[in-house]
Amino acid sequence: MVLRIYNFLTRKKEVFKPLKKGQAGLYTCGPTVYSYAHIGNLRTYIFEDILRRTLEYAGYKVKHVMNITDVEDKIIKNAREAGKNIFDFTGPYEAAFYNDLKKINITPAWKYPKATDHVKEMTGIIKALIKNKLAYRSDESVYFDVSKFKKYGKLSRLRKSDFPGKSDFHRTDSDEYEKGSAEDFVLWKAKKEGEPSWPSPWGEGRPGWHIECSAMSMKYLGKSFDIHAGGIDLLFPHHENEIAQSEGATKKRFVKYFLEGEHLLADGKKMSKSLGNVFTLRDLEEKGFNPLAFRYLMLGAHYRAQLNFTWESLKAAQNSLERLREFVLRIKNKSVEPKASRRGGTKFAAKVKKAFVDDLDTPKALAQVWGVVNEYNKNNKKYDTGGVLQLLLEFDRVLGLGLADVREPEKPSDEVLKTLKERETARKSHDFVSADILRQKIYDLGWEINDTPEGPRLKAMN
Ligand code: AMP
Ligand code: ZN
Repeated sequence: MVLRIYNFLTRKKEVFKPLKKGQAGLYTCGPTVYSYAHIGNLRTYIFEDILRRTLEYAGYKVKHVMNITDVEDKIIKNAREAGKNIFDFTGPYEAAFYNDLKKINITPAWKYPKATDHVKEMTGIIKALIKNKLAYRSDESVYFDVSKFKKYGKLSRLRKSDFPGKSDFHRTDSDEYEKGSAEDFVLWKAKKEGEPSWPSPWGEGRPGWHIECSAMSMKYLGKSFDIHAGGIDLLFPHHENEIAQSEGATKKRFVKYFLEGEHLLADGKKMSKSLGNVFTLRDLEEKGFNPLAFRYLMLGAHYRAQLNFTWESLKAAQNSLERLREFVLRIKNKSVEPKASRRGGTKFAAKVKKAFVDDLDTPKALAQVWGVVNEYNKNNKKYDTGGVLQLLLEFDRVLGLGLADVREPEKPSDEVLKTLKERETARKSHDFVSADILRQKIYDLGWEINDTPEGPRLKAMN
């Protein structure tokens, strides 16, 4: 199966040719665990999951590494404000992150290395950079000298002449900055009062953010590996700096293909913690949405196109997902003798496969899935029901909508429904004590209540 992916290094769609036959090394930048992931972050993780699943679908054995950034500027600042050390502060967010991934059917990575466990590997790279005259010390900090690395800018297409008003580089201690203020960036930060620190040849300190990913990717995937992915905001400076650090230290090509996913927007602006326009998966669930409806919504847009999040579009996605799951349930329950004369939907199969391997075109793949459903519904006598079911389940190996697990929804008992009515009456008459007792009774009967603007919804707990 020929797989094409858009490589940001060449700005072209290229045929994927792995470094090792039959294998794919994949590194994706993981979360900075200083708060809950927002659904913009989750969009990127879903894109990366589709990439991983497509590689597997195309027959590759995938080694997927995703790091956990558990020490950097924002973590230190927020932990201090919360009066905690960084480990106690980041632990619960890391746990919440894995929980979110599970809810949206993201296949677990092979490894989730943590930055704080790899400081030795980071200082090793910094030593090599100093030896190769690409990094210099300034007091007890170390900086990468971008003017010495000839290929600096190869990913972001940045040239020295692009820097406004600067004939020479300056340097920065901050991990994040814009293209227009590109400077020598920090590899090792000298210890500051009250900050966590590790020993190094340059004194006590801590790593810069970019070096974390160079160290963890190369440790598990080797000096050169196949694919590196992340959100488009990481293209510069993060991925550019990773290339400079890794290639500068090893003198080998770091990564063959760089894939960058576009942003999820809210009200037309990038969803980001700093703008405050973020929602978490919990926010969606509290409004009664199934996390997989969010996954479905993300599949409806190509990963290289921006997507504006709205509640209406999420509602539409939830309806479509429910219809698809109902269809699967219906044909699962139907026992029809397979007949040679009946079709299994092969014309759609080819189209869906083509969409997956054409730079992960999930919107096209979903459209073809609906093509199968609609044609079957129009004239099911022509179709081999078992074959159609098999086909949908095969596509779902990439889509990850949980179609194989679709089951008849449990129905609440009369007692649960009666208690729910009583609770509504209590709430309407502002008798919240009774309402709470009745909620507990329903809970004890195995059901959760989600209060939504459309009224209470029952969810079976199992
Ligand atoms: P962070 O936890 O901030 O390091 O981000 C984790 C991942 O989410 C990175 O791959 C980012 O590029 C990605 N990301 C951040 N904001 C968005 C957004 N609004 N839409 C899509 N991806 C995003
Ligand atoms: Zn990274």
